[in-house]
Amino acid sequence: MLKALTVILEIQELDMKMIQLMQLKKKRQLELEKINSTKNSLNRRVAEKQTEILDLKKFIRLAEGEVNDILEKIKKLETQQATIRKVDEYNVITHEISAADRERLAKEQRLSDMYDKLALEEDTLKSLQEGLEATSENSKMLEEEIHNNILQINEEGRALKSQRDLLVEQAEVDIFKIYERLLKNKKDRVVVPLENRCCSGCHIMLTAQHENLVRKGERLVFCEHCSRVHYWLESKALEDSTIAPKQRRRKARA
Ligand SMILES: [Zn+2]
Repeated sequence: MLKALTVILEIQELDMKMIQLMQLKKKRQLELEKINSTKNSLNRRVAEKQTEILDLKKFIRLAEGEVNDILEKIKKLETQQATIRKVDEYNVITHEISAADRERLAKEQRLSDMYDKLALEEDTLKSLQEGLEATSENSKMLEEEIHNNILQINEEGRALKSQRDLLVEQAEVDIFKIYERLLKNKKDRVVVPLENRCCSGCHIMLTAQHENLVRKGERLVFCEHCSRVHYWLESKALEDSTIAPKQRRRKARA
């Protein structure tokens, strides 16, 4: 195998771990977002219900004021009526009083409906608030666990990064640049073994000449189908790579 690929393979293994780690982090962040959006939507519903209740209370106060006005009007009419001696005038006021009383009854009926509605809305608000409280309480531990997990992931990520930085210093600049470009495109292993003349990246067969070039390991050989870099697995094992401990053991025994 091309000697310069050994360190690239080590970098690649770290990068694969990093990709997995970042996927895990993303997943955990999505879980957090989901919890937060559930809480936010409950909070919103509580706030909406509170506004509805406030508005309803305003209407009720207004209607109560109107009923009181009518009651006062009736009282005045009655006082006025007490001083009247003429039957005609007396009857006119009786008429006015009963009209006002009908109006009062209608308004009181509406008020009574509003009181019922208020009681209902207040019950709804209470159960919404209880739901919010329960959700917050239940998710507290989960949120903490996710937060800690993310911190741990960041820590692992930093460790991987510093390990990688050390290896990058040892890598050949040109080959490393090619590797990074390929990795950016594929987000997967881009330096792969050629196994039985088959690319282990895209699983397409290659020619005998291609195999020979890879086996010689004199320069970078790219898969003509997926552009990955190929290396020869046997030679890699002989070079005592950290990537293949099994083969290393076999070599040690021999
Ligand atoms: Zn390929």
